[in-house]
Amino acid sequence: MSQYIQDMIQTRRTLHRRPEEGWTEFETMWHVCSHLDQWGIPYLTGTKVINTEFVMGRDETLVKDAIDRALKHGVPQTFIDKTEGYTGAVAIIDTGRPGPTTAFRCDMDALPVRESQDPSHEPAKLGFASERPGFMHACGHDGHTAVGLTVAHWLWDHKDELCGKFKILFQPAEEGVRGARPMSESGILDDVDWFVGSHVGGAFKSGEVCVQDGGFLASTKFDITFTGLEAHAGNAPHLGHNALVAAACATMMIQGIPRHGDGDTRVSVGKLVAGEGRNIIARSAVMQMEVRGQTQEVNDFMAENVEHIIEGVEKAYQVTADIKRVGESSTLVLCPPAMDKLEEAMRNVKGIKMMPRYHGAAGSEDCSWHIRRVASHGGQAAFFLYGCEHKGHHRPDFDIQDEKNLPTAFNIFVEFAKLVNGQNG
Ligand SMILES: [Zn+2]
Repeated sequence: MSQYIQDMIQTRRTLHRRPEEGWTEFETMWHVCSHLDQWGIPYLTGTKVINTEFVMGRDETLVKDAIDRALKHGVPQTFIDKTEGYTGAVAIIDTGRPGPTTAFRCDMDALPVRESQDPSHEPAKLGFASERPGFMHACGHDGHTAVGLTVAHWLWDHKDELCGKFKILFQPAEEGVRGARPMSESGILDDVDWFVGSHVGGAFKSGEVCVQDGGFLASTKFDITFTGLEAHAGNAPHLGHNALVAAACATMMIQGIPRHGDGDTRVSVGKLVAGEGRNIIARSAVMQMEVRGQTQEVNDFMAENVEHIIEGVEKAYQVTADIKRVGESSTLVLCPPAMDKLEEAMRNVKGIKMMPRYHGAAGSEDCSWHIRRVASHGGQAAFFLYGCEHKGHHRPDFDIQDEKNLPTAFNIFVEFAKLVNGQNG
């Protein structure tokens, strides 16, 4: 195993121990940036890579707690200051020779999932399970970050054999599709000719790789807060305005939005917390919900219907509702030349099995924003999947067999770089 691969596995396991939710990845980012510093690789952080106007679903209290935790865990205050409170970093490797600008993206965030302690679960067995109860890298983004960091290291070491420029994006908050939009709106990709993103797992087994040619649903995530008026439920129910009933009614109506003839849609009211106590007309209700659509248009149709329902419920139940868009992703823009190039790179990697292009699974991935942005100025962008054995993403027993599967992604990125930024490329 090469030193790069050994370091990559080590990084993945270190990050796995310290999972951080979207917009709170300060320890993760420090791990990345302190290594970039050590190698001498320049990088940008803070508002240089995050356009704060487009930030969604970032909770200031959670950010503060995360900063405190990071400081206690040895992250220097000077580094926290450099982040300006926003996670996300972009390493920039300039070979000094003319050539294309190529960007690779990885995401850094974890999930509110309690990790399995079962001895058959590799992180538990090998002693690198989450040290933060209730949080876990249950989607493999620890692996993604480890791959990105190791690719940056390799490119830096081999920059004399390459031309052009590289940008490695360490993106915050992919879960809830929150981080990509503000990052791409920073303009960091506006000079990018080639772009590649990737994800581990999905429908693929160890060693299987494939280029995605569709299947990302556009999605909009809403947090909705209903506010009514308390009253005694026994002697004065007529004086109250019931936020719980309003939210419950909205839930049923939202689930009943008519489906669109032009494409698949999804809707989910996933969380509803309401009320203060048994005999109090409920003053408050908080809902987390999302819609998805096969095209941007049918997703927008779903999202607009949610807004209409909320307006109607406000009136019907005499409550007020604050509706916030906390996440948004789009569909996958296809750039056939980039997809071909990516498959060409894959063919140079030994010991992997290239699967037919894939557009199944109704997931969403906010990398779609980066791809859209790159394509909008004539750049070329593509996305690939690399398999692992897993029992399902976002589960307590999700695992990725890092030693077997992360080298696959590392090699594909490296081969892609050699292909498009080779000295005679
Ligand atoms: Zn994921």
